Amino acid sequence: MTPKFWKWSLPARILSGLVLGAVAGLIVKDAVTTPEGFERLGWWLANVIQPLGKLFIRIIFMIVIPLIFSAIVLGVAEMGDVRKLGRVGLKSVLFTLLLTTTGVAVALTVVNVFEPGRHMTEETRDALTSRYLGDVSEKVAQGVKKTPPADTLLGLIPQNPLAEAVNAFAPNYTGGGLIAVMVFSLFFGVALAMAPADKTDALTGVLKGTFEVCMIIIGFAMRLAPLGVACLGFSLTAQLGADVLRSLGFYTAVVVLGLALQQFVTYPLFLRFIGGVSPWRFFKNIREVLLTAFSTSSSNATLPVSLRVAETELKLPPQISRFVLTVGASANQNGTALYEGVTVLFLAQVFGVDLSVTQQVVVAFMCILAGLGTAGVPGGSLPLVVGVLVTIGVPGESIAIILGIDRLLDMCRTTLNVTGDLVCAVLVAKGEPGSGRELPVRG
Ligand code: ASP
Repeated sequence: MTPKFWKWSLPARILSGLVLGAVAGLIVKDAVTTPEGFERLGWWLANVIQPLGKLFIRIIFMIVIPLIFSAIVLGVAEMGDVRKLGRVGLKSVLFTLLLTTTGVAVALTVVNVFEPGRHMTEETRDALTSRYLGDVSEKVAQGVKKTPPADTLLGLIPQNPLAEAVNAFAPNYTGGGLIAVMVFSLFFGVALAMAPADKTDALTGVLKGTFEVCMIIIGFAMRLAPLGVACLGFSLTAQLGADVLRSLGFYTAVVVLGLALQQFVTYPLFLRFIGGVSPWRFFKNIREVLLTAFSTSSSNATLPVSLRVAETELKLPPQISRFVLTVGASANQNGTALYEGVTVLFLAQVFGVDLSVTQQVVVAFMCILAGLGTAGVPGGSLPLVVGVLVTIGVPGESIAIILGIDRLLDMCRTTLNVTGDLVCAVLVAKGEPGSGRELPVRG
């Protein structure tokens, strides 16, 4: 590896890590034929390669709880400051939830129709399941299938949020875990928005600080990601062959299809029938925003461009677009929620974890909340995906399967995230004073 490798961008290094690791694994799988060879390979995998691969994932795990709590509370508190903006605030909350929910519904539909995780042989799936899962499927079956739906829903409201946080990643925990922590954060955020600001400023400052620190720790983990992905890619293909990679291709296609449906079907329907706006003109006007989001993979980095375009091209009233877009850059992540839904259900399929309808609804709910709590930075959703995976009994390490191509998907979902913010701003502005000056008309 030349020294120049270290100068490559992080996504390029992660992708090459995956390719190198996976190819090396395939070569080794072919080369090892004797029982002694298998034994030696097994030793290396168990004692060196897999631990190295799991290092960065453990660091991500470490910050999932503080990150989810601070991000959801801040996201909801900002969104929920309804009194400040009255009707505009309320409309923003409603449209954000509506757009995110449709995104997750699209995700559930495409992943159940195309079943991207089922494109592997029984043999590979059995090997994967026994290696990573042990009795997890049983646990899922016990934990949720035997529980009446009403109790499952009631279980979302934690009696003791601290206990839920402590046990969130415990293998045999059958309580709410991470989702209960999310629900607690939701309540906390709503209450924070309602409390007098002079009494809660310090608390908000602590939460903002916690969030920033978590972001820096994720940065540490991501520096180790190229090595980690190479090791995990190696151990997957050395044991399971190319089957896993084929599934990855299907998965990518299904995510892109879901995102395209939301971008080119759902948004235009909302724009035309609720916003009274020509979708064609809308997309033409926001080209610059789409390009910026696609190239930066960050809603936050795209915010200045979105603000300008909303005012100069879409002619939205500034007080509305500023509020909706600023809050939406971190709290309205439709593309991310959609992507999380597909990813979690894909990995559940890969690992043969059968999710009942109730469980899928719970996953959908978690993805909607995750959409509220995802940082608008590249890879901001990864800690949340890890958290949701563990909650439904899929090993968090399995995220390595998709990490190599995550940047490409991040570019696409971020484009949707910012489009969703602008769609939301158009819908909120409809009928408000100052709107429609030169708003694109039906056409
Ligand atoms: N990169 C996304 C954004 O900034 C967040 C994510 O899905 O990772 O909007």
